[in-house]
Amino acid sequence: MILDKIDENLIKLSKDSKEALKDIYQKIDEVCLYNSDRILEAFIENRVSYSDFADINGYGNFDEGRDKLERIFARVLGCEDALVRSQIMSGTNAIYLGLSALLKHGDTLLAISGDPYDSLLEMIGIYGDSNQSLKACGVKYEMIDLVDNDFDDEAIISRVKKGVKVVEIQRSRGYASRQSLAIAKIERIIKKIKETDPKVIVFVDNCYGELVEKKEPGHVGADIVVGSLMKNLGGGIATTGGYIAGRKDLIKEVAERLSAPGIGKDLGANFNQNINFFKGIFLAPNAVRNALKTAVFAAYMLEKLGYQNVDPKFDEERTDIIQTLELGSEEKLVEFSQGIQSSSPIDSFVKVMSAPMPGYPFNEVMAAGSFTQGSTIELSADAPIIAPYRLYMQGGLTLEYGELSILLALSNLQK
Ligand SMILES: *Cc1c(COP(=O)(O)O)cnc(C)c1O
Repeated sequence: MILDKIDENLIKLSKDSKEALKDIYQKIDEVCLYNSDRILEAFIENRVSYSDFADINGYGNFDEGRDKLERIFARVLGCEDALVRSQIMSGTNAIYLGLSALLKHGDTLLAISGDPYDSLLEMIGIYGDSNQSLKACGVKYEMIDLVDNDFDDEAIISRVKKGVKVVEIQRSRGYASRQSLAIAKIERIIKKIKETDPKVIVFVDNCYGELVEKKEPGHVGADIVVGSLMKNLGGGIATTGGYIAGRKDLIKEVAERLSAPGIGKDLGANFNQNINFFKGIFLAPNAVRNALKTAVFAAYMLEKLGYQNVDPKFDEERTDIIQTLELGSEEKLVEFSQGIQSSSPIDSFVKVMSAPMPGYPFNEVMAAGSFTQGSTIELSADAPIIAPYRLYMQGGLTLEYGELSILLALSNLQK
């Protein structure tokens, strides 16, 4: 038994956590019920049927299941239309697809939550020399940093007045030390941007944020939102894929970029994934609930054990499933990640080491013992090898498996 290998003090702390975290868990349950309701309603409204799971091969014409699935994603995300495809291979791919469809030579992309996520830097052209970066295609990039973990309204509005095509917001912290941006903050800034210039396209990188709150960026005015199905909305069931949801006219542009003008959304074999995508979004509220509880549990344990730089704190409001922890050295990063890896259902025997990752600027340590390769709605931990050696942990399909992994990781640290 894994529990037999855990120190008594950790076991006791984890038992105490049940009482201490009761109210927080209850709030998470309430959001789960609310979002489950929205999703179930969308299934019923769209009359999902067994025949919608049919494997349509070849060109993938007339796939009614895919059409319904995309309507459900749109509805759940507060948008008019969506693309949900296995042809979208990751979050980065979804973001590049969206941005490169909407931004043409001479247009300006304005990032208003600081520089975006690491894997986007090369795509934008902030570094590297790709001929396919937005910069190489003549797109201008500007960035406005957050101030005290919130938008710099004044700077943003005065820049928007001078004309920009797309404003980019990253809801989740990604690999930055800042906090994630709650929907209320996103709502406030979108309202101001639209009052200043209604034509600006507000683009939200929604990765890790889906279903954490009752509202999504699409409900508060975002024009286009994107994410990966190896994260929240795949529910731990989808084995590949990504989504882009938003205004109907914009989704048309993006679909034509994905396939070709004249084809748009009409083609694309589903690789027999429809059932996984339907089941994935159906189970996503529960996966997100368990990921959130696992994160809260980890934060609680670490705080009680005296770790200072745990962020968010166990009792802070959350808008994504990421939990960070500063461990101070590469060695400790590896020890903690090894605990997560050793208690994973898949590849538990693997030794964690730091290594380069395609698209990421620093070496990374990564614990990922998941059924779907690289899935981060399943419990996973990763860290760029650079001071202050901050670990990013996310996912957890059940709280029980999450607890076991966290306990083993903590035991490893205390040795
Ligand atoms: C994960 C993530 C991405 C990129 O998604 P991949 O599927 O890893 O390519 C982009 N932005 C944020 C905020 C993310 O968390």
